[in-house]
Amino acid sequence: MRTIDAQCEMVPTLLVTGGDVVTMDPHRRVLNDTTIAVSGGRIAALGPAGDLRRRYPGAEELDATGAVVIPGLIDAHQHTTVDPLVRSLIPDDIPSQSAIYDWAVPLHQHADGDDDELAATVTAVDCLTRGVTTVLEPGTVAHPLRAAAGLRRAGIRGRVGGWGWDTPGLPFSAPAGEVLAAQRETVTALRAADPDGLVTGWVTLVGHALVSDELFGGALQLAGELDTTVTWHLSPGPDDPGSYRLRYGRSPVEHLARIGALGPRLLLGHAVWLENAELEALLHTGTAIAACPGAYLRLGQGVTRAGRYAEFIHRGGRLALGCDSHNAGDAPDVLRAAALLAGLEHDRGTEPPLRAADALALATVDGAEAIGAGGEIGSIRPGLAADLVVLDTTRPGWIPRATDPAALARQIVWGGVSDTVRDVVVGGRVVVRDRRPLLVDLTELRQEAAARQGALLSRAGLPTSATVPSPI
Ligand SMILES: [Zn+2]
Repeated sequence: MRTIDAQCEMVPTLLVTGGDVVTMDPHRRVLNDTTIAVSGGRIAALGPAGDLRRRYPGAEELDATGAVVIPGLIDAHQHTTVDPLVRSLIPDDIPSQSAIYDWAVPLHQHADGDDDELAATVTAVDCLTRGVTTVLEPGTVAHPLRAAAGLRRAGIRGRVGGWGWDTPGLPFSAPAGEVLAAQRETVTALRAADPDGLVTGWVTLVGHALVSDELFGGALQLAGELDTTVTWHLSPGPDDPGSYRLRYGRSPVEHLARIGALGPRLLLGHAVWLENAELEALLHTGTAIAACPGAYLRLGQGVTRAGRYAEFIHRGGRLALGCDSHNAGDAPDVLRAAALLAGLEHDRGTEPPLRAADALALATVDGAEAIGAGGEIGSIRPGLAADLVVLDTTRPGWIPRATDPAALARQIVWGGVSDTVRDVVVGGRVVVRDRRPLLVDLTELRQEAAARQGALLSRAGLPTSATVPSPI
């Protein structure tokens, strides 16, 4: 994986002073009244404020006295284009195929580069103000370089890819060779366009039953060649298992295993519906999963009947959390996803139950490992990128504040504290301060998003809220 060593020569040294630091380090320590020194975009040291002020004279300071500081959260599956501009407009009582072909497809066909860039910025500020500092775009993007620019504008860390599928006759489809060439071009162009390495590229296929064996295998090979990761969608609901059984006489993951298209570089989006042999194949090959529980509930994908994430995790499976899209899960709120996943798995009765501390690890250190960024982000310890979130414990949701580390983890995961995010640091740079994104003017963003929403709906031939008012 590409590191960010070259990053942020211009980022000033920063001291985040006096917070109670939830490190998510190997010992899961919580360090009270601790200052974090940040230099060159990375965490340089943890210790008493006085000592670090002497070591880093003249450093800028962010006062976190009395606050809780957690590692930046990781959203491993978040669509950043189109949906953010039409958030909450797709009805929640229609079949998923209708949501795709009556809404998503025409909207994507009519979105231009300016739409994609703005939508990505909307996603980024939405993520950052909820404590999400890394967002992985799983690739349903017509203009990936513009989406990357939109993320970069807000100062978030990200990975972006373009459309990738080769079923003939479908919109955005192309032969496998062309898809792979475009993927290579995107990853290469993003490396050149982003010298600080904050927003990089990865190989992204749409997946499902819409990709040939040649393309699945080629994508994994390309990811190895480019030293990056790869993702595609699989089995969020029962449709993919049904299609693969019909076409190949075996389950989707068994098929991927047979063609050699699994492995530690692959992050499968969803994998909700898994048979025993599929679970075994994922564990055996080290293939990771991005789970988006909010989307499965919003879309009625059957996660309460079919999901088996706790079992996967307890057996050493690599899993990260995602929030999917602004019309599936709707809010890029990783702490909410953590609570939903823990609750769903607890309700399933899997032993041992997934604790809040486990779910917090999925949102941070374990999620980082699952996306191939372990040792780079996900915990607060020297040497890692300085992605930090300061939670304002003066807010009512923190009264009274838990002090015992296990109770603190429960309060962070179950207590709905993502609305208490006060300050956010990404790669050593303060990008949200006192709840306000520093790099983006929200008033301008709001006005432009409203205008682009109306124009996009009109071009796609879909009703606008102005033309079809509907009662709640
Ligand atoms: Zn998706």
